[in-house]
Amino acid sequence: MKFEDYRISDEIKKSLSKLGFKKPTDIQFKAIPPIMKGEDVLAIAQTGTGKTAAFAIPVLDRLQFSKNRKRGDGIKCVVMVPTRELALQITTVFNEIGRGTRVQTFCVYGGVEQGPQIAKLEDGIDILVATPGRLFDLVSQGHIHLHRVETLILDEADHMLDLGFIHDIRQLITKLPRQRQTLFFSATINEKIKELAYSLVNKPVRIQISPKDPVAKNVDHSVMFVEMDDKRFFLERVVKQNADKKILAFVRTKVRAERVVAAMERVGIEAISIHGGKEQKDRIDVMRKFKSGEVKLLIATDVSARGIDIPQVEYVVNYDLPEQPENYVHRVGRTGRGTEKGIAVSFCAPEEKPILDEIQKYLTKDIKVMEVEKEDYEATLDFSAAAKYDWKALIKEAEETDEKIKAAKAKKAKSKAKKKK
Ligand code: ADP
Ligand code: MG
Repeated sequence: MKFEDYRISDEIKKSLSKLGFKKPTDIQFKAIPPIMKGEDVLAIAQTGTGKTAAFAIPVLDRLQFSKNRKRGDGIKCVVMVPTRELALQITTVFNEIGRGTRVQTFCVYGGVEQGPQIAKLEDGIDILVATPGRLFDLVSQGHIHLHRVETLILDEADHMLDLGFIHDIRQLITKLPRQRQTLFFSATINEKIKELAYSLVNKPVRIQISPKDPVAKNVDHSVMFVEMDDKRFFLERVVKQNADKKILAFVRTKVRAERVVAAMERVGIEAISIHGGKEQKDRIDVMRKFKSGEVKLLIATDVSARGIDIPQVEYVVNYDLPEQPENYVHRVGRTGRGTEKGIAVSFCAPEEKPILDEIQKYLTKDIKVMEVEKEDYEATLDFSAAAKYDWKALIKEAEETDEKIKAAKAKKAKSKAKKKK
């Protein structure tokens, strides 16, 4: 079935065709009809399979219809998301699909001033995309009223219902009408969170697609065993061998993100980083540069692993393995989106082996191993531009200096001992 044949407004059909969306993806095919009927839906589908449009299309269609009939104003739909970047991205999707309708979508998130957000809210909007913290603040201050909300959507639902967010979400839910539609979307979910999701809805939830393999089929992923200290040489090699490609590399901490950027710069590779320690305007700037391809290597912590849809990211590198096994799925899912194909490789150091075991347990299968021959491993270290600085000589020099200091100290101690005598 094509979107042409759907019972949705002509304006929405036109926008979909403009976006190049001809037929629905599996999750869109299964989720759109029950959402249109007003049912509660828990939808689990792999990364990059079009979950955003799966909820945006039916919600926009319904609101356009009710707008034309001049119903009362007020926010009708709230979409909660975990990150600021995702809030912006989802708002863009609603605006693109909703172009030509009179439905207004707007987003609020933390890390920027409230003033302009409040001014826009006063103009009146229909759909609000928000991160929970800022939404909670604006609701508490009386700038946002949620009593007209008909649909609540939790994107990246398992994450939204997890420890960091559940408190805000519970508080916000008490402000919503009891009679409402609730939609949960994610690529991953566990039993505990599923139970929690069920407890938040009145009617039984329909489960749509539940993939056996949580990693999207468009992603070719493997693991490579690399010593912790050699990871930068392997990243350098991946980058230089894929010079025309956009590469997203994930690291464990903010500090490591900065260190990897510096290590890449030393070997003549331009890289930028995104992590929670950055100002919001820098984060937006970094995303813009990476999206446009101005800078081809982005080093990220898990902040941007969820939901972000950047076109033509062809390579994901897990420079460090993710400590949360499900984040493996979200990280490698930044490539191979829509109809694109992607490659993901994880650098596993000996000390990370237990984490790898956890991830494989979570995936219920082993990750393909990319064997590195001893000579090839050595060649990678030699291949590095850093080798030109002859790091082995540098280390030797450092060791020699160390020995000289030791010798000097010993001499001093000896002469002191002599004096005492
Ligand atoms: P998910 O939330 O499932 O990870 P997104 O909603 O971010 O995925 O969509 C992934 C990509 O697929 C986006 O770039 C989007 O434009 C594209 N896409 C979504 N639906 C369709 C469709 N029906 N036809 C073609 N491309 C689509
Ligand atoms: Mg998504």
